[in-house]
Amino acid sequence: MARRTAVVTGGAGFIGSHLCDALIRAESAVICVDNFLTGSRDNVAHLLASPHFDLIEQDVNDKLAVAGEVDVVFHLASPASPVDYLRHPIETLSVGSVGTLNALELARERGARFVLASTSEVYGDPHQHPQTEAYWGNVNPIGPRSVYDEAKRFAEAATAAYRREYGADTAIVRIFNTFGPRMRTDDGRAVPAFVTRALTGQSLHVAGDGRQSRSLCYVDDTVAGLLAVAASSHPGPVNLGTEDERTVMDIARLVLDLTGSAAGIEFVAMPEDDPGRRRPDTTLAREAFGWEPRIAIEGGLAATVTWFVQQLAAGAAR
Ligand code: NAD
Repeated sequence: MARRTAVVTGGAGFIGSHLCDALIRAESAVICVDNFLTGSRDNVAHLLASPHFDLIEQDVNDKLAVAGEVDVVFHLASPASPVDYLRHPIETLSVGSVGTLNALELARERGARFVLASTSEVYGDPHQHPQTEAYWGNVNPIGPRSVYDEAKRFAEAATAAYRREYGADTAIVRIFNTFGPRMRTDDGRAVPAFVTRALTGQSLHVAGDGRQSRSLCYVDDTVAGLLAVAASSHPGPVNLGTEDERTVMDIARLVLDLTGSAAGIEFVAMPEDDPGRRRPDTTLAREAFGWEPRIAIEGGLAATVTWFVQQLAAGAAR
């Protein structure tokens, strides 16, 4: 990626800001486009001094106001946590559809490669386990989660259509649960919720009986996968995630161990349409890109706990 110009929509979010960091480290020029709906200027504040980093505050539902040459467009703009997309259902549908078309159009106009950050949620509550890229999914099109799942399915369809119709150089990446520093304490996903509650001595809320599974990939590995796909000409879809599947109960226990917290576990109602099992088949990513996750969940969680300790201390000091 050296000396190339990358546009990162959603670049001030959790994964997007780590991607911006990695691109700057790789000596790319980065144009980060974000409206701060769920992200924050703080996530990229350390990059603002770089002459190779530009931050444009913009809604990608409007035509992208990016000047000059562009080599690659990473399209990450979208609320991603259930708390966020249930709070912003129409914005989520809009950014997945109109926003994706705008990002695709920018890539097509500049002859840039386009990488869509899609999601394992396109598989819905899967009937196939583990999920391969060939699986078409099991999504409730009118349930509360559909605003996210169907928006991403539309985004994939639009990306595939741009490739067929215009010969655009596109790729679809299906990201599975990713965690790490810069997740928000109020993000609502399992890791930030568990860690924040453990650190503040509140019991961890485990949905259902806790036997539903998740496969948690550390953000540095997800970013490495995005870069590998961008550097190739592969159209995808490509699953990015870890095959290390854990039950939600196991993840809760691990967080209690790592934080040394005496907060207990409390069982709460299962959210509607919550997927029962989640594990990617990452054969394609391994064989096509030599990519596989390198950071074990324990190590990633330790770094994440450190981040939340700092966040809570900063919040308490304010
Ligand atoms: P995030 O909410 O931290 O980041 C999303 C960013 O997009 C935010 O900075 C937000 O302000 C921005 N944004 C939202 N709508 C916008 C709009 N209309 N115009 C401009 N910017 C807008 O979420 P994240 O976890 O970093 O996820 C990033 C991407 O990766 C999303 O597309 C998400 O669907 C995908 N993804 C994430 C995960 C995960 O586990 N984190 C899993 C699968 C897919």
